[in-house]
Amino acid sequence: MKLNNNQYTLNSKVLPVPSFFSISNLGGGGSDKYRETVYGDILENTPILLNFFYLNQKKIFGLNGFAVPWLSNIDSYDTFGDFLNYVRQDMINSSKYISSYHTPDALDYNNNILLLDSGAGNIINNIHLEYDYITEKDKFIERLLEVMKNYYDFADRFKFDIVIGFDIGGKYTFKGDERSPAIKELNMHILRDADDLNKILLDETIKYLKNKDEFYPKVFATIHGKNPIAYKTYTQHVLSMEKKYDFTFDGFAGGGIASAKNAELRRAWGISSNVETEIIAINKKNKNELYNAILSSYACKIIRKTINDNRPIHALGCGGKFNILPLYYAGATSFDAQTPGRRAYDGSAENNLNVKNPNAAGTFSKYMVAGLSSKLKASNNSRVFEYLKLPLVDNTTQLCGCPACILTGNINSLKSLYTKVSPRNKQTEDSYYAKQLINIHGIWQHNYLSRLAQVTPSVSEIIDEFSNHTTFVNSLDYVINKFNYVL
Ligand SMILES: [Zn+2]
Repeated sequence: MKLNNNQYTLNSKVLPVPSFFSISNLGGGGSDKYRETVYGDILENTPILLNFFYLNQKKIFGLNGFAVPWLSNIDSYDTFGDFLNYVRQDMINSSKYISSYHTPDALDYNNNILLLDSGAGNIINNIHLEYDYITEKDKFIERLLEVMKNYYDFADRFKFDIVIGFDIGGKYTFKGDERSPAIKELNMHILRDADDLNKILLDETIKYLKNKDEFYPKVFATIHGKNPIAYKTYTQHVLSMEKKYDFTFDGFAGGGIASAKNAELRRAWGISSNVETEIIAINKKNKNELYNAILSSYACKIIRKTINDNRPIHALGCGGKFNILPLYYAGATSFDAQTPGRRAYDGSAENNLNVKNPNAAGTFSKYMVAGLSSKLKASNNSRVFEYLKLPLVDNTTQLCGCPACILTGNINSLKSLYTKVSPRNKQTEDSYYAKQLINIHGIWQHNYLSRLAQVTPSVSEIIDEFSNHTTFVNSLDYVINKFNYVL
């Protein structure tokens, strides 16, 4: 992937630096997640990250996931873009998945940059149900390598643009570890062996892909490490494997850096109690997000410095609003985040009718107050980039001018759409649509933050742009300029 004028070109598609990836959980989520596919036109060609486990859980593990009727037809399509086009058209035709308020625009998913990630936590947990990791380790690893090959073959077969190196996941905790003592114990063992397992997977990845003459996707090697030194050592290990096998990865992916919730982890990455005190003084409410921004920036700086070239670096799961600009200055070239969807899908339908009452109790979708306009100017709203419960979003709030906001019109009409539930407070296509507009507007705000970095040459200009928004600007300034990154 060649870098030219601050953008990469791959498979004749352009990936600007930096770029935000939205996440599609098609196959892994219910009602709201389905509908992201049908409303893809409102996102235009925002790059998309997809999860291999959710798309293949039936085929590989015999599990009944979501979107099964569509996924059972996937083999009829040449590319994953074609498959998504089919799913979207089927949803439009059946009119069961789209609001009559939305006239779907033309969209070809083959024009989106599509990135495939493995969904390692779920894969590990399911293999463990077949072969006990502790007592049948060899069989477990054999099966893991088989799934790894399935993963790369799937990415190639359906012409994904980018595939993230298969690994056991870097979070060092897996979903569900609280639910079952057996999974908790598995996690403990996996965690202990993480470094060795990832090295096996890296080695096998190179051996497998080296023999594939025309492997279509660009491959990003995943980097892990519990602290800055381990992160650097692992990056060096990847570089030495490239040399050993005469193989070159197209880019890198920073793993295990999306959350700094654990205090021990923060200390390992230089976030001392003094740093925490300084951050709390600037932005107490978002302190955890700022810790995350430091951790992910730190990791990307290490990768960039160690590889010492301009290959792309994707920060997995790190595309939050406080991360985008710091990550760009840390050398990351793309990132993804699930947050806009998660916030939009908060709430339960029985509350929807009360959305126009600012004092309404209960849960609601959370709407991101526009911080940037589509012209990349800081907005005059107060509480920029904050997710507010929809009843608390004032009707005079400025919209951002993104394609979702153009369809929304104003906050009051968004709230009206949100109240359109059926008599027994059941979701309707219109109330789903309201949530999609909230989600997609949130994604556009992340896109605009990325675009601001693309077009603004210096940190100080960006900080000037937000000078009326003290909390936001001081938060950015701390993560980018004040924290002491020891490299
Ligand atoms: Zn908007």
